[in-house]
Amino acid sequence: MEKIALYRKYRPKNFSEVLGQIHVTKTLENALKEGRASHAYLFTGPRGVGKTTVARILATAINCEKRKGGEPCGSCENCKMILAGKAIDILEIDAASNRGIDEIRELKEKIKFSPSKLKYKVFIVDEVHMLTKEAFNALLKTLEEPPEYALFVLATTEIHKVPQTILSRCQRFDFKRISLKDLAEKLQFIAKEEKIKISKDAISMIAEASDGGMRDAESYLDQIASYKESGEIEVKDIIELLGMSDFKNLYNLISALKEGKAKEAIIQINELAENGADLDQFIKNLVEYLRKVLHIKVVGDSNIQMTEEHFELTKKLAKDLDLAYILEMIKTVLNYSNAFKNLPLPQLPLEMAIVSLTEGRVGVTKTAEKYEREGEVYAKEDRDIKGENIDGEWPDFLLEVKSQNNSIHALLKVCSYEIKGDELCLYFPYKFHKERIEDIKNKKIVEKALNKVFNRDLKVKCFIKNDMPKPEEAAKTETELLEKALDIFGGEVVN
Ligand SMILES: [Zn+2]
Repeated sequence: MEKIALYRKYRPKNFSEVLGQIHVTKTLENALKEGRASHAYLFTGPRGVGKTTVARILATAINCEKRKGGEPCGSCENCKMILAGKAIDILEIDAASNRGIDEIRELKEKIKFSPSKLKYKVFIVDEVHMLTKEAFNALLKTLEEPPEYALFVLATTEIHKVPQTILSRCQRFDFKRISLKDLAEKLQFIAKEEKIKISKDAISMIAEASDGGMRDAESYLDQIASYKESGEIEVKDIIELLGMSDFKNLYNLISALKEGKAKEAIIQINELAENGADLDQFIKNLVEYLRKVLHIKVVGDSNIQMTEEHFELTKKLAKDLDLAYILEMIKTVLNYSNAFKNLPLPQLPLEMAIVSLTEGRVGVTKTAEKYEREGEVYAKEDRDIKGENIDGEWPDFLLEVKSQNNSIHALLKVCSYEIKGDELCLYFPYKFHKERIEDIKNKKIVEKALNKVFNRDLKVKCFIKNDMPKPEEAAKTETELLEKALDIFGGEVVN
């Protein structure tokens, strides 16, 4: 038997089961009770908070033969037919995939005839803002004079894209993000029903990452349960298997930046990389977290989805940070991640952002400028020996290293190289890369591969050659940066 997704299986079947939208469900229930339901509704709000679910419950309730107050009975012929998805009088259109006039034309055709089995014909149009202009006009005509038996429910995540002419003909309901507590309780309930063993902290983490969306929360639980089939699911499983970033990592990184502790921050990033974390995802989560810090700083504590403990820590962090520095952090992280996204060394953009953001802050021991000077000194000492070009052998050498260690291989891919006498000279963009190769364990791996490929006894010597682009050159234009920021922020402007 095919496995049913959790969010389908546990989708609410009546109004009282819907979480966090009581302002909507109560009003609809009352309207049904009093027999004054409208012919057109518009549901707006973030994705995955129950808009389509409520639309279906409404479609069921309005057609139920034994309605209890405003709730569908769930057992009459009509309820059963609708719940089984077999009611031809209920028409669902996903405007995200059917944008065109044809679907709306079909809708216009169907609306001419009274329902075949049910009392009401219900048209649910999901992501209605995606319709083309022509389709909107066609829809408008039907909304202007809907037949007695028709009920429209239009749903959208982007209300500002729905024409005013449509809005003015619908009764509008604004769906809210679901509270962390409600999300966690529902997840706990599902886990118990499904016999999924999962720790309380892991539940909190999923709830927090879902940002108020039940569908996301349920599908995260679904994914993690199918990845890990035995033993209790813990926070570390979620980090490892779903690529989510632990709050602790985000918080610690920003705290280290705040105090100018470049070394701690870079070690932290490299540990993450070595433990197999997805750093692109981490950067995304970092920017999202910084956005929350920014919100708390500017707007106060409105609508932030975080556990109480995390919220208190973040509030303190926001208080301690200057607004200008929060903006600088967001800008710098986006700037570097955008400029260096195609490099084979995923931690580099973060490392550069760290160096740039800690420069001149309290506790900084060495700045990038200092590193550069050290590099010059090394280079001068060796200028008298002529280097040997090894471009021909280099790819074989890289392959040999790769067979031993992936992360060393990644570091070697971005350095420049030459053989001088009996030494392989490697030139790295940053001191921390140089130091990682100089680590005895890593150096041994490099030298072993070296001697195997070159068939002679060579030693490794590392240098710093700071010819990476300067921060101000990294972002091509301000506009590009802004576009990237708006992309990550989902086009919202902080007010
Ligand atoms: Zn019924």
